[in-house]
Amino acid sequence: MNLELDPEEKIMCPYNPAHYILRKRMNTHLVKCKKNYPESKLVECDFNILHKVPEPELRYHHDNCPDRKKIEVTVYQEEGVDINKYPIKSEAVPTEESWDDLNVPTYDPKKHCETKNVIRHLDVASAAKRREFRMQERKRIGLLNANAESKSNGETSKENIPNTSTQKPNFVLPARQQNRIDEEVPQSVADLVQRLAIDAKKAVIPKRKAAN
Ligand SMILES: [Zn+2]
Ligand SMILES: [Zn+2]
Repeated sequence: MNLELDPEEKIMCPYNPAHYILRKRMNTHLVKCKKNYPESKLVECDFNILHKVPEPELRYHHDNCPDRKKIEVTVYQEEGVDINKYPIKSEAVPTEESWDDLNVPTYDPKKHCETKNVIRHLDVASAAKRREFRMQERKRIGLLNANAESKSNGETSKENIPNTSTQKPNFVLPARQQNRIDEEVPQSVADLVQRLAIDAKKAVIPKRKAAN
């Protein structure tokens, strides 16, 4: 008997629709019941020609034939070959390169910015500390600019660092911060140059002597 079918389910007798029998008792019932229908002819099972069953029982037999599974497994396996009309090609991906094996240090944005012409900003600190930080930043960028300038003036550098001291920076500080800069004393010549670049309008042009 097929394991997937509920043995406690009542099913209709193939000989008499008035007989509702538990599935697990059907075989016994059929032996008795078929005696009332001696004229029914024997037919072959679809799954095994050696199975000869009375015609009314054929459907019941097909549902429970022990050879059904063997046949169905082969049929579905053969069908399976043709089912996939558009198979996915297995691409040969080169696997020589493994980034796990590379010994590259972790990227540290803080360290990276320290050596670049990037204005850093201190977010969480007291006003005095932030002010001190700004001053240090100005000094650091001034030094970087001075280094870049001396490099570009000397040998033809491969790094191609832009000479920022003569270029106008591509940022504009808010008015409040510009005033702050004016309050503070410049730390170096490079710093002064940068200040002029930031706020060119405020640059002091010495007056010409009136007498000519
Ligand atoms: Zn019956
Ligand atoms: Zn059979």
